[in-house]
Amino acid sequence: MKKLSNTLLLTHMSILLIYTGGTIGMSRNSFSGALEPLDFAHLLRHIPELHEVAADIHTTQFEPPIDSSDVTPSQWESLACTIAGRYHDYDGFVILHGTDTMAYTASALSYMLGNLTKPVIFTGSQLPIGQLRTDGKENLITAVSIAAARDDEGRPLVPEVAIYFGGRLLRGNRTTKQSAEAFRAFASFNYPALADAGVDITYHRDLILRPDYGRGLQPFYALDPNVIIISLFPGMRGDILQHILQTPGLKAVVMRTFGSGNAPRHPWLLSALREAADRGLVIVNISQCVQGAVEMSRYDCGLHLQEAGVLSGLDSTVESAVTKLMHLLARYPGDTVTVRSLMTKNLRGEISV
Ligand code: ASP
Repeated sequence: MKKLSNTLLLTHMSILLIYTGGTIGMSRNSFSGALEPLDFAHLLRHIPELHEVAADIHTTQFEPPIDSSDVTPSQWESLACTIAGRYHDYDGFVILHGTDTMAYTASALSYMLGNLTKPVIFTGSQLPIGQLRTDGKENLITAVSIAAARDDEGRPLVPEVAIYFGGRLLRGNRTTKQSAEAFRAFASFNYPALADAGVDITYHRDLILRPDYGRGLQPFYALDPNVIIISLFPGMRGDILQHILQTPGLKAVVMRTFGSGNAPRHPWLLSALREAADRGLVIVNISQCVQGAVEMSRYDCGLHLQEAGVLSGLDSTVESAVTKLMHLLARYPGDTVTVRSLMTKNLRGEISV
């Protein structure tokens, strides 16, 4: 761990800043012209203002830093281990991460870090920190301020896994990357922002999770990646879908359906799903619409799915559903009944029930 010297200690909050990579710390390769991640020293050189933030900031980084398209569950595990291992040394954690898969990583960590009582705030940027119009400085400085923010009793204002980006603080497992260009790259379509940052940071405290401060962190690191996301489309071939559903070792499917959770009523589709569900596969219905919830009983085309053993993913994001499945399958191996039942329960504020 490195320490940034000469911090202006106004609040004495200590924050661990974890750099995993992403555009924020990238620079252009002079031969290929493509952006590639550089080390933390490069990034910190471009934000001398960090020394002025009212917190004592220590830093650590992934070796080597990565483009987040390369992230894997084992890196989620090492992030969760870093946080759990240093949990008592810091008041909050800020994770610099590429935007491409930030919503997956934030969702995964929300399940891995049970009963979180400290802020874990993800951020990154659309433009590298060395570029004139970078959004990285504001994102990073505000993320650190949020991680350090306390209420009158000295408790963290945001004791959950969240993403701060482009002026809004969003619950991590409610968030989706919505734009490859806009500075407001992320949206939470089915849950309001936890805070808005303008001249001041306004926290919507009634929307923020309240952990049990009497209990400690309950980390669970294992993830089972035997899952797949399948997006339905008109004209999909039955033999291809059946082939996927029969993949050895496959345990769960996030099935992206139409509208309020509808699918074609082809007999081959319903019998393939029924047969897979009877074999113990957990099949979760998530709409291709980003806003609104699955309601399989609304149309006959949805009701058939329910009768075939497909579960409603309610208003979950895809990122949250797939990482929740990875978590639950590892936590309750072979116990399909429990996994199915917990998929429809609200564990970390990820679904509205
Ligand atoms: N490809 C980059 C990444 O996800 C994009 C970004 O950081 O915005 O690492």
